[in-house]
Amino acid sequence: MSEVRTRLHGRVAVVTFENPPVNGLSHAVRIGLARALDRATADPAVAAVVLAGGGRQFSAGADIREFGTPAATAEPTLRQVIAQVEEFPKPVIVAIQGSCLGGGLELAMAAHYRIAARDATLGLPEVKLGLIPGAGGTQRLPRLVGPARALDLILGGEPVRAGALAESGLLDRVVSEDPVEEAIGFTEAESPAPRRTRDRAVDPASVATACETARGRLASERHPLPAQQRAVEAVAAAALPFDEGLDVERRAFIELMQSPESKALRHAFLAERAAGKVADLPADTPVRPVEQAAVIGAGTMGAGIAVALLDAGIPVWLLETDDGALTRGRGRIAGIYEAQVQKGRLTPAERDRRLGLLRPTLDYGSLAGADVAIEAVFESLPVKREVFTALDGVMKPGAILATNTSTLDVNAIAQFTRRPADVLGLHFFSPANVMRLLEVVRGRATAPEVLATALALARRLRKVAVVSGVCDGFIGNRMLDAYVRQAWWLVEEGAMPWEVDRAIETFGFAMGPFRVGDLVGHDVSQAIRERRRAERPDYRASTLGDELCRLGRLGQKTGGGWYDYPDGPRRPVPAPEAEALVERHRTALGINPRVLDDKEIVDRLVYALVNEGARLLGEGIAARAGDIDVVWFTGYGFPRWRGGPMHYAEQTGLERVVARMRELGAAAHGDPDFWRPAPLLERGW
Ligand code: NAD
Repeated sequence: MSEVRTRLHGRVAVVTFENPPVNGLSHAVRIGLARALDRATADPAVAAVVLAGGGRQFSAGADIREFGTPAATAEPTLRQVIAQVEEFPKPVIVAIQGSCLGGGLELAMAAHYRIAARDATLGLPEVKLGLIPGAGGTQRLPRLVGPARALDLILGGEPVRAGALAESGLLDRVVSEDPVEEAIGFTEAESPAPRRTRDRAVDPASVATACETARGRLASERHPLPAQQRAVEAVAAAALPFDEGLDVERRAFIELMQSPESKALRHAFLAERAAGKVADLPADTPVRPVEQAAVIGAGTMGAGIAVALLDAGIPVWLLETDDGALTRGRGRIAGIYEAQVQKGRLTPAERDRRLGLLRPTLDYGSLAGADVAIEAVFESLPVKREVFTALDGVMKPGAILATNTSTLDVNAIAQFTRRPADVLGLHFFSPANVMRLLEVVRGRATAPEVLATALALARRLRKVAVVSGVCDGFIGNRMLDAYVRQAWWLVEEGAMPWEVDRAIETFGFAMGPFRVGDLVGHDVSQAIRERRRAERPDYRASTLGDELCRLGRLGQKTGGGWYDYPDGPRRPVPAPEAEALVERHRTALGINPRVLDDKEIVDRLVYALVNEGARLLGEGIAARAGDIDVVWFTGYGFPRWRGGPMHYAEQTGLERVVARMRELGAAAHGDPDFWRPAPLLERGW
């Protein structure tokens, strides 16, 4: 329930607004604030107003529950309330604690004075939704902190601690005690006079310089967002009379609301919030305590997973096969922390504290007390059997047994134990302590409690959890397989690997499939391919990757794959050896190469994802199209500002997508069935 309350403290009216969980500035809150201000104007007993958020927060901005509803723009609008605050005849002092973001900060900037708790976080994150602040933020912030700092905050969109803003001009006081009490004390002791942020001077020359610098910075970025460009325009307008500047901001805001980038980013934001919600998992499903964890296998993934757990303060038993592997594993973990200390992201004391929670062992017996075990050993079913049999023998009843397998059958792994209800997949992405995505793979027998506990653990690890059903590759790697097979066919037909990479990177992917292959190692995917060929007679994939492996070009770990890396991993150079291999391969297949343009490359790669995604939805492996999008923009470098493959298809129009697939199917090279549209594509989801 939202509520605005006024209590009188001597001659100071303390107005508190509350709208859990983040004090969103809903219509009800705006009405309440406008009324409270009206009453305080009229009341001769009130000499000043202190404005604060209830529940130890100021406000995280607009109420996202009102997104797209008439309530979002109903009067009084946020701009009107903000104008009322700024024009208020008596002094208004805001007391800021917790989050003060977006519209919350825009409101605070219109007040006459700002007092913030040192650990409060302030920011204008609108660019992250493809927007700019729309209630005067781009005009008031430059007046308070200067145009250069304002542009940094608006273009970056990252929240900043009040402590770091103490000298910026944004805050009048940064305090360690309760900011509401401090604001009352300040008002009583200093009798401050009203003053309007809009009346503050801005230096047109410094606005021009700061905007020029920002434009230069954006021009050097691969994909500057329209919102960033429009934000610079709006800040440049701060040199105009205030109301004209406001108009420039308003027009840009309205246009951006309709832009495909903002629609995609808002979809991404909402899809991420919805991910991890499971329709048939009641909210009151019990969650088991997780106080201690075990990680089996201390290779690339095991080490990263252990760090993710240690970072969340969870003690970790780390098990390996022999002393050497255990020492190397501990070394990997220490190395990750050391790098963070070197970069100044972690204090040596904190590193020692986290490493102190790590307990290396060779003995399964020591894992008996752990609440969850996460297995990250070799990708081989017999090895997984060995580990799960051992875990079943020692783990306490109720412990959760998780596998980090990328592609193996989680139901089969569950059957290696006498407690399949306690087994599920926790599929981390590399580097596991950095990547936000966690696929939670729900087995046929996984108990609701076990799923709920895994989702709660994901939140503690600050991961975005997406629930997947069991299939070969789950959501992400199954779609990746379709995408990579299509990439090879593009090369067989005439595009070189670097041409494919460049086209999809220009579309917005962080890295093209051939660069990713070099990074991950071609032997890893070859092993998976061999299994698929053995298990599925209809599985069709080019042998290009296998031939590359036969040349010993396994990727960056052997010095090169499709690319050479003479100047280090960040500078791939097309490898003549790989080019010769492609040409030999085409000749052997009797293919006369043709020129493929970027549009064909991008359509084929993205629609490969869309079709496989629609199949996953139809099979119920993924619960929502948005979940698939979240997997792709958090785990696989799909451009977030395009919203993910499923959103992209919806925006393109499913009919057009299907028509294009039919066209591609008619000319298909590779698997004749590849472009058969998934049934859901024709029906919609
Ligand atoms: P890795 O080869 O780097 O590490 C595997 C580790 O497991 C080695 O240190 C090995 O000594 C240890 N090990 C092997 N058998 C063991 C046993 N019986 N008991 C205890 N330890 C044993 O492999 P990785 O890349 O870390 O992959 C591990 C798992 O994670 C695989 O299932 C893989 O498919 C999956 N995975 C990998 C990635 C990735 O990008 N590398 C991403 C997601 C999931």
